[in-house]
Amino acid sequence: MSGQWQEQVSLKPYNTFGIDVAARYFTDVHNDVEVRQALADAKHRQVPVLVIGGGSNLLLTADVQALVMRMASRGVRILADDGQRVIVEAEAGEPWHPFVQWSLAQGLAGLENLSLIPGTVGAAPMQNIGAYGVEIKDVFAGLTALDRQTGELREFTLEECQFAYRDSVFKQHPGRWLILRVRFALSHVMQAHLDYGPVRQRLSEQGIGQPTAQNVSDAICSIRREKLPDPVELGNAGSFFKNPVVAAVLADRIRLQYPGLVAYPQADGQVKLAAGWLIEQAGWKGHREGDAGVHRLQSLVLVNYGQASGLQLHQLAQKIQADILERFDVRLEMEPNLY
Ligand SMILES: Cc1cc2nc3c(=O)[nH]c(=O)nc-3n(C[C@H](O)[C@H](O)[C@H](O)COP(=O)(O)OP(=O)(O)OC[C@H]3O[C@@H](n4cnc5c(N)ncnc54)[C@H](O)[C@@H]3O)c2cc1C
Repeated sequence: MSGQWQEQVSLKPYNTFGIDVAARYFTDVHNDVEVRQALADAKHRQVPVLVIGGGSNLLLTADVQALVMRMASRGVRILADDGQRVIVEAEAGEPWHPFVQWSLAQGLAGLENLSLIPGTVGAAPMQNIGAYGVEIKDVFAGLTALDRQTGELREFTLEECQFAYRDSVFKQHPGRWLILRVRFALSHVMQAHLDYGPVRQRLSEQGIGQPTAQNVSDAICSIRREKLPDPVELGNAGSFFKNPVVAAVLADRIRLQYPGLVAYPQADGQVKLAAGWLIEQAGWKGHREGDAGVHRLQSLVLVNYGQASGLQLHQLAQKIQADILERFDVRLEMEPNLY
């Protein structure tokens, strides 16, 4: 039996919304042995387990009657380097942004557009994190996960992860797979992705015509710092809703009433709409109910001004969802994981 479990631990420091709920039990796990031990102990004590990383994609609506197991494993290694392509492996508990910076310091490109995303390496495949035109699937080389049903280790290929927009096989089967370590295919030569948002413009303002991967990362960090609230100052979980993908006929119908509709045609004929734009058109930008609110500059970001509960934030989210459905006939799906 593990003696490492703490009881009745406030999760406020462990979720970026800063929601003050308690975990019945809490433990950090640093390696595979500790992971297996904690899971075995929990099974023996008939306590459910919630695995977390950095808590940057969670909405906690009540005390967690479980063992909250925080991934604290560390380690980054280069597995192969053929002079062009480099396979790097990182442990699940590695904080994401420092890992990106480490890869850039090695002269390796591939992760630069994913700079400054909070959280851990192990959670990154969960929703196929993405930013500025790149998703983790674009640099993915495999991962090792523990099957919590059988206790067996399993290697996942790109296809087996079933990555899609903010989705994966891991997200589809919550609680089944515990991701232990992830491998990335990086490169000594950058293939620049500069056409999403103001990245190219920011670089040219700085007089950089031939950017390095570090230049791209720096530009994206500065854009993100301007655009997104820092969870240390204002609790949030980044984008709260996914951008909805709808039938082209529905997009056309909305455009009749809102000629400025922000819409991106997809390969399958459907159309991706900007959730933030819909929310802004509906008048929610800057809306506040107690300490739960919609950010005053970013309609896609729900914020905790201090003492909001997860339930209050969830209720606000549900009101927004109902309003967007009524106005536009569009269903908004939440991005953070609700507990
Ligand atoms: C300011 C801000 C900006 C953000 N920007 C972006 C962005 O640009 N793009 C983007 O995609 N996301 C973004 N996010 C969301 C978030 O950072 C990512 O989803 C991140 O990958 C979550 O990592 P985490 O370690 O904090 O996961 P957590 O919030 O701790 O967990 C998320 C989910 O993954 C599960 N989980 C965690 N670790 C493991 C593991 N090792 N094995 C199995 N399951 C696990 C948890 O049970 C939970 O269901 C942003 C969040 C914030 C606060």
